[in-house]
Amino acid sequence: MNNTSYRDSKFLDPLDKLSLLSAPISEYFGSNTFNRAAMEKYLPEDVLQLFDNALRTGQSIDRNLADAFAEGLKNWAIDNGAKHYTHWIQPINNNTAEKHDAFFKPALDRHNPSLESFSGSDLMQKEPDASSFPSGGLRNTAQARGYSVWDPTATIFILETELSKTLYIPSIYIAWTGEALDYKTPLLRSLRQLDRAATEVARLFNPDVKGVKATLGWEQEYFVVEEDVYHQRHDLKMAGRTLFGNKPARNQQLEDHYFGAIPERVQNFIADFETEAHRLGIPVITRHNEVAPGQYECAPMFEDVNNAVDHNLLLMNLMRRVASRHGLRVLLHEKPFAGINGNGKHNNWSLSTYEGHNLLSPGKDPGHNLSFLTFFVNIVAAVNRVAAVNRFESLIRASIATPGNDHRLGANEAPPAIISVYTGEFIEKVLERFKTEGLHESINAKSVLHLDLYSVPTVELDSTDRNRTSPFPFTGNKFEYRAVGASANCAQALTVLQAAIADQLAQFKQAVDEKVQSGQSVEESIVAVLQQTLRDNERIIFNGNGYSAEWEAEAARRGLSNNKTAPDALGAYLESGARELFERTKVLNERELEARYEIFAEEYIKVLELESRLMLDICNTHIIPGANAYLGQLAATNNQLAQMSQANGNHALLATQHNLQKLLEAVNCVLANTFTLEEKLTQLHHQNDVTHALRYAGKELKPTLEATRHCVDALEVLVDDDRWHFPKYHDMLFNF
Ligand code: ADP
Ligand code: MG
Repeated sequence: MNNTSYRDSKFLDPLDKLSLLSAPISEYFGSNTFNRAAMEKYLPEDVLQLFDNALRTGQSIDRNLADAFAEGLKNWAIDNGAKHYTHWIQPINNNTAEKHDAFFKPALDRHNPSLESFSGSDLMQKEPDASSFPSGGLRNTAQARGYSVWDPTATIFILETELSKTLYIPSIYIAWTGEALDYKTPLLRSLRQLDRAATEVARLFNPDVKGVKATLGWEQEYFVVEEDVYHQRHDLKMAGRTLFGNKPARNQQLEDHYFGAIPERVQNFIADFETEAHRLGIPVITRHNEVAPGQYECAPMFEDVNNAVDHNLLLMNLMRRVASRHGLRVLLHEKPFAGINGNGKHNNWSLSTYEGHNLLSPGKDPGHNLSFLTFFVNIVAAVNRVAAVNRFESLIRASIATPGNDHRLGANEAPPAIISVYTGEFIEKVLERFKTEGLHESINAKSVLHLDLYSVPTVELDSTDRNRTSPFPFTGNKFEYRAVGASANCAQALTVLQAAIADQLAQFKQAVDEKVQSGQSVEESIVAVLQQTLRDNERIIFNGNGYSAEWEAEAARRGLSNNKTAPDALGAYLESGARELFERTKVLNERELEARYEIFAEEYIKVLELESRLMLDICNTHIIPGANAYLGQLAATNNQLAQMSQANGNHALLATQHNLQKLLEAVNCVLANTFTLEEKLTQLHHQNDVTHALRYAGKELKPTLEATRHCVDALEVLVDDDRWHFPKYHDMLFNF
């Protein structure tokens, strides 16, 4: 990281965006964060040393250190214009939460001056009411106490709006009784377990390894639409996705949008949020048009998982805020528009030693690289364990199950609901030989492609091709977990994955130790245990086309679960395997796990209910009145035409009669479905418990909502444009 702050540099005015425009990013990167340079300037040397020490050893920070740290932090914040501070938490609701307090303390009497103050205890913890966040029964209005507690391993930052600056302290969120009420706490627990287990294993190969961290580089997909169009689409505004609308004649079939030139207005919006992101220390570096019209992607340089997750959440917030400045809106929903590409959030994930060695880097000769093989095979095994029937009942599928993601997973869109691992052909061969021969030579020679063109350099070829149909492909030196939803907090998916890998690595280490104790060499023991692990888990490896019907059948034969919907998937959290895994790794206790199941189930039910109510509203107050008005007009035209001449041979009359007939059918279809939808909404409230309601929402509400949509879409192409109250897909997707 570059340590110069732009405040000390030639680019003077931090608010002067134009000067930032021409400044290299390294001049202002992280200037709104309490980074190393700021800490060195504002914290006494001994305080900084104690802080470093606490981070290195993992020891809790005591009150004295917190007081000294808070003093430096306050001075930095105030020097930079911050008037308020907030603990910044990640409740289990796909949104971050904050409550601002001023540093300012008014004088209580005239003998004392007013002043700004901020103590160690202000920094360490706050006590926001926990009863209004989803808690799955862990908290209620009569037992509401919750604590937000400073996470010293995350980066503190100042968030600016046009007229305010606020200090944000990333925090965990727990109940008075100690249970986690957020995404961050279990994520940190899983990272700690993973560090412990992976370090022990890494030391088999290099005793000097200090520790292991997980790294994450997410790719955030999103749509951009005009703000005024957005406001006219109640469904986009209230549900984040369109509940009706036909795919326009031109959509993505010409394949001319992906990586196309970014339109000027969108480019300006992107540059604006990127500049803000860079000042906040979010290392976004990649931007491009995505597959669908109106769709884009941005990606950062990878970081440690905790900061990467914070940064993704912060960026999503930033994008939403900055978009309005440009008269735009961003859509982060997994499926804003039916029939065209949805939004995902690929999680590029790897393991690295504290010193920065990527443990998933195969090197030149992976067949001889026992460290690589060990981590690779154990990750494959962990994924198998959380993706297979009769093991942990596809916990991994449950961890990405949201109402939004249901429109992608298992709905004929990337990636499928069956979780499998793509290794690529080369690694597959290495593993195949390793299984029988153990260590062997398999040189990963990069081949080159000579092009018969003037001056153009030769092309170095990767050893594996890409497979976009796999939910969990290995992409050279990292896995690309492609099944995470675009609006999701990555923490949920990674907590489950990391817990499973930590657990697997611990079991592996134990098996190796046992063999060593029985007299075998360390290398022999590792090879033998790995070979067995591979044999036990290789059914999860699949290098073919994940969208094909053959794979569905094959996956079923292999015992891989294929839960197409969230209601089918979420039950995995309650299986005994899941309980045991989370207990063993201390990532979630039984109460926390049950609470989470309840929260996710309720979220699903609430979203389906909201969407259904919205659909009813829209149909009853716009679609049907509009269609009826047009129906009346057509009927009148029909009568007039009929009076004018005989039916036979009168094309206008025949056409009108035909349209009238179709229109009537479509209106009736909408009406019939809205009646059913209403009935089913009532039934939803008569379900006994959350599990029954979840199933009912998935099995009854969702198909009825879909059927209603079907009729509305049929109506859309029949009703006069003047009587259709909503912008259509082409109005939303082709604006730039
Ligand atoms: P793609 O070609 O798959 O679209 P991108 O270039 O958009 O890939 O994104 C690749 C992402 O992978 C980046 O965020 C990058 O930082 C991340 N990445 C690269 N190496 C690692 C690693 N070792 N651990 C985690 N993420 C990584
Ligand atoms: Mg990409």
